[in-house]
Amino acid sequence: MKACLFAGSRLVLPDGASSLPDLTEASGWNAGEAEWFPATASPPAVVGAHPADGHAGHSAPAGRVRAESAQNYPAVAARAAPGWTPPAGVSAVGLRQILVLLQEPDLSIALTAAHLARWRRTTRFCGVCGHATEPSRRHRAMVCRACGHLAFPKVSPAVIVQVTRDDRILLGRSRRHPRGGFSVLAGFVDPGESLEDTVRREVEEESGIRVRRVRYFGSQPWPFPDSLMVGFTAVYDAGEIDSADGELEDVGWFAADALPPVPPGYSIARALIDDFARRGGVDPALVPTWQRRWSGAPQPGTP
Ligand SMILES: [Zn+2]
Repeated sequence: MKACLFAGSRLVLPDGASSLPDLTEASGWNAGEAEWFPATASPPAVVGAHPADGHAGHSAPAGRVRAESAQNYPAVAARAAPGWTPPAGVSAVGLRQILVLLQEPDLSIALTAAHLARWRRTTRFCGVCGHATEPSRRHRAMVCRACGHLAFPKVSPAVIVQVTRDDRILLGRSRRHPRGGFSVLAGFVDPGESLEDTVRREVEEESGIRVRRVRYFGSQPWPFPDSLMVGFTAVYDAGEIDSADGELEDVGWFAADALPPVPPGYSIARALIDDFARRGGVDPALVPTWQRRWSGAPQPGTP
Protein backbone atom coordinates (compact mmCIF):
# COMPACT_ATOMS: atom_id res chain seq x y z
CA MET A 1 0.00 0.00 0.00
CA LYS A 2 1.53 3.29 -1.14
CA ALA A 3 1.28 6.20 1.29
CA CYS A 4 1.21 9.94 0.58
CA LEU A 5 1.84 11.99 3.70
CA PHE A 6 1.40 15.75 3.33
CA ALA A 7 2.85 18.43 5.58
CA GLY A 8 0.76 21.44 4.64
CA SER A 9 0.69 21.22 0.83
CA ARG A 10 4.09 19.48 0.63
CA LEU A 11 4.64 15.75 0.13
CA VAL A 12 6.86 13.93 2.62
CA LEU A 13 9.46 11.66 0.98
CA PRO A 14 12.64 9.88 2.05
CA ASP A 15 15.64 11.83 0.76
CA GLY A 16 16.66 10.62 -2.68
CA ALA A 17 13.48 8.58 -3.20
CA SER A 18 11.99 8.19 -6.68
CA SER A 19 8.96 6.27 -5.42
CA LEU A 20 6.38 6.66 -2.66
CA PRO A 21 6.95 5.01 0.71
CA ASP A 22 4.63 2.21 1.77
CA LEU A 23 2.18 2.71 4.62
CA THR A 24 4.35 0.90 7.16
CA GLU A 25 7.31 3.17 6.50
CA ALA A 26 5.27 6.38 6.47
CA SER A 27 3.45 5.39 9.67
CA GLY A 28 6.84 5.10 11.35
CA TRP A 29 7.44 8.82 10.87
CA ASN A 30 4.99 9.50 13.71
CA ALA A 31 3.20 12.33 11.97
CA GLY A 32 0.98 13.04 14.96
CA GLU A 33 -2.72 13.00 14.24
CA ALA A 34 -2.37 11.66 10.70
CA GLU A 35 -5.64 10.05 9.60
CA TRP A 36 -5.19 7.92 6.49
CA PHE A 37 -7.84 8.06 3.78
CA PRO A 38 -8.16 6.22 0.43
CA ALA A 39 -6.47 8.10 -2.41
CA THR A 40 -7.61 6.09 -5.42
CA ALA A 41 -10.78 6.11 -7.53
CA SER A 42 -12.07 2.87 -6.04
CA PRO A 43 -11.30 3.04 -2.35
CA PRO A 44 -10.00 -0.26 -0.95
CA ALA A 45 -12.52 -1.92 1.35
CA VAL A 46 -10.24 -1.87 4.36
CA VAL A 47 -7.58 0.80 4.49
CA GLY A 48 -4.28 -0.52 5.75
CA ALA A 49 -5.16 -4.21 5.31
CA HIS A 50 -2.60 -4.85 2.57
CA PRO A 51 0.95 -4.72 3.91
CA ALA A 52 2.58 -5.20 0.51
CA ASP A 53 1.99 -3.39 -2.76
CA GLY A 54 1.23 -6.22 -5.15
CA HIS A 55 1.36 -4.11 -8.29
CA ALA A 56 5.04 -3.26 -8.44
CA GLY A 57 5.48 -5.08 -11.76
CA HIS A 58 3.29 -2.65 -13.67
CA SER A 59 4.77 0.41 -15.28
CA ALA A 60 3.18 3.22 -17.23
CA PRO A 61 4.24 3.96 -20.80
CA ALA A 62 6.78 6.75 -20.98
CA GLY A 63 5.72 10.13 -22.26
CA ARG A 64 2.03 9.62 -21.77
CA VAL A 65 -0.23 12.50 -20.85
CA ARG A 66 -3.05 10.73 -19.07
CA ALA A 67 -2.79 9.41 -15.56
CA GLU A 68 -5.42 6.67 -15.73
CA SER A 69 -3.12 3.96 -14.40
CA ALA A 70 -2.85 5.67 -11.02
CA GLN A 71 -6.48 4.77 -10.42
CA ASN A 72 -5.59 1.06 -10.40
CA TYR A 73 -3.21 1.19 -7.45
CA PRO A 74 -4.20 1.03 -3.81
CA ALA A 75 -2.94 4.09 -1.99
CA VAL A 76 -3.74 6.11 1.08
CA ALA A 77 -3.02 9.69 2.03
CA ALA A 78 -2.97 11.76 5.18
CA ARG A 79 -2.07 15.17 6.44
CA ALA A 80 0.50 15.41 9.21
CA ALA A 81 -0.42 17.20 12.41
CA PRO A 82 0.31 20.95 12.40
CA GLY A 83 3.83 21.64 13.61
CA TRP A 84 5.08 18.13 12.82
CA THR A 85 8.63 18.06 11.49
CA PRO A 86 10.02 15.21 9.38
CA PRO A 87 12.62 12.93 11.01
CA ALA A 88 16.21 12.77 9.76
CA GLY A 89 16.52 11.47 6.21
CA VAL A 90 12.99 12.56 5.27
CA SER A 91 11.90 15.86 3.71
CA ALA A 92 8.71 17.69 2.75
CA VAL A 93 8.97 18.70 -0.91
CA GLY A 94 6.83 21.02 -3.04
CA LEU A 95 4.28 19.51 -5.41
CA ARG A 96 5.95 20.81 -8.55
CA GLN A 97 9.23 19.37 -7.35
CA ILE A 98 7.78 15.87 -7.25
CA LEU A 99 7.21 16.15 -11.01
CA VAL A 100 10.94 15.57 -11.37
CA LEU A 101 11.49 13.36 -8.32
CA LEU A 102 8.88 10.60 -8.66
CA GLN A 103 8.54 7.95 -11.34
CA GLU A 104 5.22 6.62 -12.63
CA PRO A 105 2.83 5.34 -11.42
CA ASP A 106 3.77 6.91 -8.09
CA LEU A 107 3.80 10.40 -9.57
CA SER A 108 0.18 10.15 -10.70
CA ILE A 109 -0.83 8.62 -7.38
CA ALA A 110 0.82 11.46 -5.46
CA LEU A 111 -0.80 14.14 -7.64
CA THR A 112 -4.24 12.58 -7.17
CA ALA A 113 -3.65 12.30 -3.44
CA ALA A 114 -2.59 15.96 -3.28
CA HIS A 115 -5.80 17.00 -5.01
CA LEU A 116 -7.91 14.97 -2.56
CA ALA A 117 -5.96 16.10 0.50
CA ARG A 118 -6.49 19.74 -0.43
CA TRP A 119 -10.20 19.12 -1.08
CA ARG A 120 -10.64 17.53 2.36
CA ARG A 121 -8.80 20.42 4.01
CA THR A 122 -11.00 23.03 2.28
CA THR A 123 -14.30 21.18 2.84
CA ARG A 124 -14.21 20.83 6.61
CA PHE A 125 -17.40 22.85 7.03
CA CYS A 126 -20.73 22.67 5.23
CA GLY A 127 -21.16 25.37 2.58
CA VAL A 128 -24.94 25.37 3.21
CA CYS A 129 -25.30 25.50 7.01
CA GLY A 130 -21.74 25.87 8.35
CA HIS A 131 -21.81 22.66 10.40
CA ALA A 132 -18.63 20.54 10.54
CA THR A 133 -18.48 17.85 7.80
CA GLU A 134 -17.11 14.33 7.90
CA PRO A 135 -16.10 11.81 5.22
CA SER A 136 -19.12 9.99 3.71
CA ARG A 137 -19.12 6.22 4.04
CA ARG A 138 -21.10 5.76 0.79
CA HIS A 139 -19.54 8.30 -1.55
CA ARG A 140 -16.20 9.92 -2.09
CA ALA A 141 -17.62 13.06 -0.55
CA MET A 142 -17.70 15.06 2.64
CA VAL A 143 -21.14 14.93 4.24
CA CYS A 144 -22.90 17.33 6.61
CA ARG A 145 -24.80 15.35 9.25
CA ALA A 146 -26.86 18.43 10.14
CA CYS A 147 -28.44 19.12 6.74
CA GLY A 148 -27.34 16.20 4.53
CA HIS A 149 -25.35 18.31 2.08
CA LEU A 150 -22.71 16.32 0.16
CA ALA A 151 -19.55 18.09 -1.03
CA PHE A 152 -17.81 16.16 -3.81
CA PRO A 153 -14.20 16.80 -4.82
CA LYS A 154 -13.94 19.96 -6.89
CA VAL A 155 -12.35 19.71 -10.35
CA SER A 156 -11.77 22.96 -12.24
CA PRO A 157 -11.60 22.46 -16.01
CA ALA A 158 -9.12 24.53 -17.98
CA VAL A 159 -8.17 24.49 -21.65
CA ILE A 160 -4.67 24.53 -23.11
CA VAL A 161 -4.17 25.03 -26.82
CA GLN A 162 -1.63 24.58 -29.59
CA VAL A 163 -2.33 27.42 -32.05
CA THR A 164 -0.45 27.23 -35.35
CA ARG A 165 -0.14 29.57 -38.33
CA ASP A 166 1.55 27.86 -41.27
CA ASP A 167 4.83 26.52 -39.84
CA ARG A 168 4.82 28.51 -36.59
CA ILE A 169 3.28 28.05 -33.14
CA LEU A 170 1.81 30.71 -30.84
CA LEU A 171 3.55 30.80 -27.45
CA GLY A 172 3.23 33.18 -24.53
CA ARG A 173 5.35 34.20 -21.56
CA SER A 174 3.68 34.48 -18.18
CA ARG A 175 5.21 36.02 -15.07
CA ARG A 176 4.84 32.58 -13.48
CA HIS A 177 7.21 30.96 -15.98
CA PRO A 178 10.93 30.65 -15.23
CA ARG A 179 13.03 33.41 -16.83
CA GLY A 180 12.94 33.25 -20.62
CA GLY A 181 10.37 30.45 -20.66
CA PHE A 182 7.34 30.29 -22.96
CA SER A 183 4.38 27.92 -23.22
CA VAL A 184 1.13 27.34 -25.07
CA LEU A 185 -1.82 29.49 -23.97
CA ALA A 186 -4.23 28.23 -21.33
CA GLY A 187 -7.15 29.40 -19.25
CA PHE A 188 -10.02 28.35 -17.01
CA VAL A 189 -13.48 27.53 -18.30
CA ASP A 190 -16.13 30.11 -17.34
CA PRO A 191 -19.69 29.14 -16.39
CA GLY A 192 -21.85 28.81 -19.50
CA GLU A 193 -18.94 28.13 -21.86
CA SER A 194 -18.23 25.06 -23.95
CA LEU A 195 -14.57 24.02 -23.99
CA GLU A 196 -14.33 25.26 -27.58
CA ASP A 197 -15.76 28.65 -26.48
CA THR A 198 -13.06 28.88 -23.83
CA VAL A 199 -10.33 28.12 -26.37
CA ARG A 200 -11.53 30.90 -28.69
CA ARG A 201 -12.01 33.43 -25.86
CA GLU A 202 -8.74 32.76 -24.03
CA VAL A 203 -6.60 32.88 -27.16
CA GLU A 204 -8.18 36.12 -28.32
CA GLU A 205 -7.99 37.73 -24.85
CA GLU A 206 -4.36 36.79 -24.29
CA SER A 207 -2.96 37.27 -27.79
CA GLY A 208 -5.44 39.18 -29.98
CA ILE A 209 -5.55 36.18 -32.33
CA ARG A 210 -8.80 34.57 -33.49
CA VAL A 211 -8.68 30.83 -34.14
CA ARG A 212 -10.71 28.22 -36.01
CA ARG A 213 -10.70 24.41 -36.38
CA VAL A 214 -10.63 23.77 -32.64
CA ARG A 215 -9.95 20.04 -32.16
CA TYR A 216 -9.57 17.88 -29.04
CA PHE A 217 -6.00 16.68 -28.38
CA GLY A 218 -5.99 14.99 -24.96
CA SER A 219 -6.35 15.75 -21.27
CA GLN A 220 -4.41 15.59 -18.03
CA PRO A 221 -5.31 15.90 -14.35
CA TRP A 222 -3.36 18.89 -13.03
CA PRO A 223 -3.81 19.34 -9.27
CA PHE A 224 -2.22 22.81 -9.01
CA PRO A 225 -4.49 23.09 -7.16
CA ASP A 226 -7.46 21.20 -8.67
CA SER A 227 -7.54 21.47 -12.48
CA LEU A 228 -8.27 19.15 -15.33
CA MET A 229 -6.29 20.44 -18.32
CA VAL A 230 -8.10 19.77 -21.61
CA GLY A 231 -5.80 20.10 -24.61
CA PHE A 232 -6.81 21.35 -28.05
CA THR A 233 -5.24 22.24 -31.36
CA ALA A 234 -6.46 25.22 -33.39
CA VAL A 235 -5.29 27.19 -36.39
CA TYR A 236 -4.94 30.90 -37.01
CA ASP A 237 -8.00 32.60 -38.42
CA ALA A 238 -7.51 36.37 -38.11
CA GLY A 239 -5.96 39.17 -36.06
CA GLU A 240 -2.54 40.48 -35.10
CA ILE A 241 -0.57 39.80 -31.92
CA ASP A 242 -1.74 42.03 -29.08
CA SER A 243 -0.96 41.16 -25.46
CA ALA A 244 -2.52 44.35 -24.08
CA ASP A 245 -4.73 42.12 -21.92
CA GLY A 246 -1.75 42.09 -19.55
CA GLU A 247 -2.00 38.44 -18.54
CA LEU A 248 1.09 37.62 -20.61
CA GLU A 249 4.37 39.57 -20.70
CA ASP A 250 5.09 38.51 -24.25
CA VAL A 251 3.38 36.55 -27.02
CA GLY A 252 4.84 35.48 -30.36
CA TRP A 253 5.01 33.03 -33.24
CA PHE A 254 7.88 30.52 -33.16
CA ALA A 255 9.25 28.09 -35.78
CA ALA A 256 9.90 24.48 -34.75
CA ASP A 257 13.68 24.88 -35.10
CA ALA A 258 13.78 28.13 -33.10
CA LEU A 259 11.68 27.39 -30.02
CA PRO A 260 12.38 29.20 -26.72
CA PRO A 261 12.70 27.20 -23.46
CA VAL A 262 9.37 25.43 -22.83
CA PRO A 263 7.93 23.29 -19.99
CA PRO A 264 9.54 19.94 -19.12
CA GLY A 265 7.94 16.55 -19.73
CA TYR A 266 4.92 15.24 -17.85
CA SER A 267 2.81 18.19 -18.91
CA ILE A 268 0.21 18.36 -21.62
CA ALA A 269 1.74 21.74 -22.51
CA ARG A 270 4.93 19.95 -23.49
CA ALA A 271 3.00 17.21 -25.34
CA LEU A 272 1.31 19.91 -27.46
CA ILE A 273 4.65 21.61 -28.20
CA ASP A 274 6.39 18.30 -28.98
CA ASP A 275 3.57 17.43 -31.37
CA PHE A 276 4.18 20.71 -33.21
CA ALA A 277 7.97 20.14 -33.24
CA ARG A 278 7.56 16.63 -34.65
CA ARG A 279 5.32 17.87 -37.43
CA GLY A 280 7.96 20.52 -38.21
CA GLY A 281 10.63 17.81 -38.54
CA VAL A 282 12.34 18.63 -35.23
CA ASP A 283 13.18 15.91 -32.69
CA PRO A 284 11.37 16.86 -29.43
CA ALA A 285 14.50 15.83 -27.52
CA LEU A 286 16.22 18.87 -29.06
CA VAL A 287 13.55 21.35 -27.93
CA PRO A 288 14.97 23.51 -25.10
CA THR A 289 13.42 22.83 -21.68
CA TRP A 290 13.17 25.48 -19.01
CA GLN A 291 14.79 24.91 -15.62
CA ARG A 292 12.91 25.87 -12.50
CA ARG A 293 14.78 26.86 -9.39
CA TRP A 294 13.21 25.03 -6.47
CA SER A 295 12.89 26.98 -3.28
CA GLY A 296 12.36 26.00 0.33
CA ALA A 297 13.05 22.40 1.24
CA PRO A 298 16.20 20.44 0.46
CA GLN A 299 16.34 18.85 -2.98
CA PRO A 300 16.84 15.13 -2.48
CA GLY A 301 17.74 13.31 -5.65
CA THR A 302 16.97 16.16 -8.07
CA PRO A 303 18.44 15.14 -11.43
ZN1 LIG B 1 -25.03 21.50 6.35
